Order: sequence, then structure tokens, then C-alpha cells
Amino acid sequence: MKHLLAAAMLAATLGVGFVRSAIVTAQAPEPKVILITFDGARTEEIFGGLDVDVLTSTLSEGKKLDDNDTYKRFWAETPEARREKLMPFFWGVLMRQHGSIAGNPRAGSAVTLTNTHRFSYPGYAEVLLGEAHDAEIKSNDPLRNPYVTVLEEVQSRLKLTKAQVAAFTSWSVFNAIVEHQEGSVTVNAGFAPFDSPDPLIQELGRLQRETVTPWSSVRHDIYTFRFAMDHLQRAKPRMLYLALGETDDWAHDGRYDRVLDAYERSDAYLRQLWTWIESEPTYRGQTHILITTDHGRGHTPKDWRDHGAKVEGAQDVWIALVSPGMTRRGEWQQQPPLRTNQIAATLAGWMGIDWRALRPSAGGPISAN
Ligand SMILES: [Zn+2]
Repeated sequence: MKHLLAAAMLAATLGVGFVRSAIVTAQAPEPKVILITFDGARTEEIFGGLDVDVLTSTLSEGKKLDDNDTYKRFWAETPEARREKLMPFFWGVLMRQHGSIAGNPRAGSAVTLTNTHRFSYPGYAEVLLGEAHDAEIKSNDPLRNPYVTVLEEVQSRLKLTKAQVAAFTSWSVFNAIVEHQEGSVTVNAGFAPFDSPDPLIQELGRLQRETVTPWSSVRHDIYTFRFAMDHLQRAKPRMLYLALGETDDWAHDGRYDRVLDAYERSDAYLRQLWTWIESEPTYRGQTHILITTDHGRGHTPKDWRDHGAKVEGAQDVWIALVSPGMTRRGEWQQQPPLRTNQIAATLAGWMGIDWRALRPSAGGPISAN
């Protein structure tokens, strides 16, 4: 306190800016964690952008690839150029300058699920628990998670408020997935109302119910993202989970054009999120981000729409990491495989919690140095 008083006296002669910077530098950095998932995002699109075989298979009879709008927007000669066209911020900035990504088979890297179901609830549960529970977690029905998640454990162990650990998700079933004990963290899932003092966000809260999707339990990702950003800026949570859904839902519907649109939009959300983090002194240099998916899907034009226990390829996933403590950049090359059951321990570790001390059968944290 004494040195701040001295700083204040000095500031009387030097100007108020000095006091502000003295106070800011006196604050210890406090880790923040952001988990982001793109539902059912295949390694093909993440690492290679437009899959021309899949796009071709969706063209109606007599239509030419060269005349197709999606082809014109996203085609390039190499996988590296195609993925950067699809996700320019993720590949051109985030993975180049700030983080790394595992799971590209062409680079000798793999990430696989440990659960054998290969659909959403078991995938998200594996992410949030650090282990598969195949016998108990085996449907997408909105059944309460039988285990305490990493979000809840961080909230209670660090004695955080409900607002400080928050999940914003496009799919309503996350109400059941993210919490074992209902009401322990903030959850805004599906078409749930969202309160904000901002009139624009209030208007979005109304519009989400009018701009219907083809799916009864999934809203458009834009609402999920905007509500998450509003909460981030207002409540400054220590742990935020953003779960986007459209990469999966359009794929089930066979709309490959809209699948690629969803990747492009998700990339723009990442850019907005990162821009805010960099502009915010309490987040810049203290925020750990993990981006992944709940499952893959089939590798071929015959089964790219599907996933599940019987679909080869649905076990193949990927994990991107952006952390102040990690020096690796770009793609993981020739590395031992990672598994989705390592994510919970990684997130907990960033918050100073040893997840395997709590769950000895969970996967261990990922070290990327
Ligand atoms: Zn799905």
C-alpha cells in the first residue's frame, strides 16, 4: 500500500497515467482458460480446407465444379492454401504466431477419442471429465452428467463465483453435460434466454427464437458467440467454454456448402475473441486457449455426413493449443499420438489444479514445449 501512496504523490506532479500503470503492474497475472469446440469438425477440413471429392459428390446432376460458388470461394491447389482460405485467422495468425495444433495424419500426428461411441455427449463428457465412461454415458439424451466436470471442479476449488466459470453452447443438451450439480456454473445452452444490459444483445436474445434453424435443439452459432463475448467482457470469467455446433448439423443435412460457411464464420469468431483478449490487460498474456472437437466423421464422400461407433474416421480428432507457456508453433510433426482424455487435465493444469490427483484414471496433461 505504501508504495502506491508514494506513487500517487508522485503522480500529482507527473500526471494520473503513472498511478494507473503502477496499479496495473502491481497485479499478479491470473490464469484464464478458454475452451472452444467445433462440433464434429473433421481433420480433412481443419488441415486441408475444402474436400473436393465431398463437394463434387454433393453437386446435382449436370452441374459443374468450376461453376460452383463454394468451389470458387475455397479452392486452392495445396491443402495448406485451402485451409488458409477457409480459416485465414486460425492458420494465418493464431497457429503461425501464437499456438500449435496436433492431429494432422499427413504430418505424422494423431489425436483420437478414447470413448468408442463417437458421437456428441460421450465426446464432450470425455473432454470435460478426462476419461470415457462408455457404459454409463451412451446417448445424446439430456441426462444429467453422472460425474463432476472440470468446469465445476475449477469453480469450487478456486472458490470462484458462478459467473466466473461459464459455458455458452449452441446445443441445448449441454445443460446436462457441463454440470453434475445443476446451478454450479453459468450455462447458456440452446435457445435459452440471455440477460444483458446492452440493448443490442437484448435484441439478439429475441431474434434467436425467430431465426429458426432446421434443428430443434441447436441455435445458430452467432447467438452463442455474441452472448459469450458479452459475458466475457462484462463478467470477466476465469474459465469460459464456447461450444459451436453448425459444423456438425449442416454436415448431417448434407449441406457441404454450409459446413464450409460455418468454418469460415467460426474463424471470424476466433479473430474477434483473440482481438479482445489482446486488448484486455487482465487477459493478454494470461489466457490459455484449447480448441478441439467432440468427434470426427467418415473420411469419404460416402460417409462424411455421419459419425458413430461404426463409422471409420469418427475417432480421428485434433487439438489446438494457445498458451503463454507453450513455445511450439504450427503443426505438430512426427509426434506420439494424443488423446481426447488429456484435455481435462490440460485445462485444470493451466488453472493450477492437478486433475490426475483427483481422477487417477484420467489422461495426463498435454505438454507442448
Ligand atoms: Zn453429429
